[in-house]
Amino acid sequence: MAAGARVVLLGPPGAGKGTQAKLLEEKFAAPQISTGDILRKAVAEQGDLGKRASEYIRRGELVPDQLIIDLVAERLKEKDCEKGFVLDGFPRTIAQAQGLEELLKKMGLALNCVLSVQVPHELIVERLSGRRTCKGCGALYHVVFDPPKAAGTCNRCGGELFQRDDDRAETISNRLKVYEDQTAPLVSYYRERSLLKSIDGVGKVEDIGKRMIQALGDVAA
Ligand code: AMP
Repeated sequence: MAAGARVVLLGPPGAGKGTQAKLLEEKFAAPQISTGDILRKAVAEQGDLGKRASEYIRRGELVPDQLIIDLVAERLKEKDCEKGFVLDGFPRTIAQAQGLEELLKKMGLALNCVLSVQVPHELIVERLSGRRTCKGCGALYHVVFDPPKAAGTCNRCGGELFQRDDDRAETISNRLKVYEDQTAPLVSYYRERSLLKSIDGVGKVEDIGKRMIQALGDVAA
């Protein structure tokens, strides 16, 4: 099998996938591919994809599978994915997982690990409702657990921090339900394929990152 980290981060919204994907990206020189980030950018640019996706995102529903699979297929063809990738927020349904398997097969590749991040429900709601994102560079903060040095301003690039529309209480509960119904079945799907490793997602960002790197062991070396 080709060398490189080909990893999926699986877990509910607020499990810390985005934060950890950024750490793994640095550690393994394998790009974070966040379908949520790609879609939010498309919505901001108001192109065809953005227009099709915006209503689903606003309601906390999933964007149709084929749209997402096509988007990931394009992204995986880019040069920076040759050394691997960290998928964040994809796949989110069994159909997407099957689509991914086919895509990779055509490229002569396969996943080498799926990290399933475990976080208790109460903590998820607390994390999501306090989450803030930088408009400039996409860095993530939390108003209590990881506040920026100056309120509302990114430490890294000085950009303005904002709260995602779908991180508001009304939408959070729908996103969690969608996760339970449509995404949680992927845990068994990947366990049956012997790809699943469970990670305790509670604690300091660095400690959770260490657990992931340890779990990846030499699969991603
Ligand atoms: P995220 O940033 O991963 O929480 O994604 C934000 C929103 O984008 C989700 O609530 C969905 O509406 C949409 N989305 C992101 N990734 C996917 C996916 N793999 N399949 C379907 N919809 C997605």
